[in-house]
This record gives sequence, structure tokens and C-alpha cells, in this order.
Amino acid sequence: MSIEVLNGQIRMCHKCRLAETRIHALCGEGNLQARLMLIAQAPGENEDREGQMFIGPSGEVLRDLLRTIDIDLPDLYMTNLIKCMLPGYRKPKADEIEICSQYLNREIELINPGILVSLGYYATRYLLGKYAIALPPRAELHQVYGEVLPAGDRKLLPVQHPAAVLYNSSIKEEMVRNYSKMRLLLTNLLEKGQ
Ligand code: SF4
Repeated sequence: MSIEVLNGQIRMCHKCRLAETRIHALCGEGNLQARLMLIAQAPGENEDREGQMFIGPSGEVLRDLLRTIDIDLPDLYMTNLIKCMLPGYRKPKADEIEICSQYLNREIELINPGILVSLGYYATRYLLGKYAIALPPRAELHQVYGEVLPAGDRKLLPVQHPAAVLYNSSIKEEMVRNYSKMRLLLTNLLEKGQ
């Protein structure tokens, strides 16, 4: 299956209740040859309305962080664990994650990035489970942010979601430190020609 066919399936998908409340089901965006894939939780209201990832305040934070660590958006592929907006920014339900993650799994196979970067709790929890990495209790999950973890033949770097800084600006410095590991991982990978 090609990414275009997969994206067509995502746009038309009605496999869970979130199809009833969304405007757009969001496909991944970016460089199809990217070695680095960012995986967020789900589109917000702005993204749902415009059909585009990371617009609005958290998108501004993300672009600012990427500029700081010297990574350009065209270096990346960005996607979500859940492709449709969660009404009222509620938490995703277990069945929604189970059904929708099939699309993320296909994207990972098709794009085949060497580095996966999970943004925030749900994307991190899903990827830790997918790659059979021991899952810390929820209250301690933040401890894996900034850790580089083996994920099969890839590397997984969990980091805080960019929106976190909008609620607590004091974590910006720690976020920059964690995000900067993306740059290191990408440079190492490219130097090895992988
Ligand atoms: S959230 Fe995922 S599974 Fe549910 S309707 Fe949207 S694309 Fe389909």
C-alpha cells in the first residue's frame, strides 16, 4: 500500500465514534523520506477546522522549539496517534486508540523513519507498549521524556507535547534540552548514512 492510498483511507474513515464529531480526519504531513517522525496525540480544534497539523498556539511553540534545535520542518514527517479531533479535548478512549493506531503503524512502516519522537502522554504510552518497553506508572511517565529508547531497529525519543509549555512556561528549558536530542539523533543517523 502507498502512503497516498493510506491517506485516502484515513480521510474517509468512519471506524470509530470520532468520525461523527470531526470536520477533517488528519493524515500525516511532511517529508516522505524523513528519518525523523513526530507523533502527537490528536488534532485540536484549529487543526480539525483547517485540515492541517500544528497550526495555532502549540504549532507556534513546536516551530520555535525546532528552530532552537536547528531542525527544519522539511526534515520531518509529522502525524498523530488519533487522526480525528477529540471533542472538548477529552482523553482518547482505549478502543479509539486501538482502532486508529493501525493507521499510525502503517505510516511507520511506509515512511520507515530511524527515529520516532512521541509528543506527550498518550503517544508515548502507545509507543512504549508497541515496542514492549516497560511502561512506568502514569505519574512517573514524565521520567522517560528525553530518554533515548530502543524501539526495534529504530530509536524512540519521548518528549513533552509542545502545548505543555502553554500551561507551564517553567518547563521550557527542560523541553529544549529534551528536544535537542532529536538533533543529535538525526545527525548521528545521517553520519552513518542510515
Ligand atoms: S479517529 Fe481514526 S479510527 Fe476513528 S474515525 Fe478517525 S481516522 Fe477513523
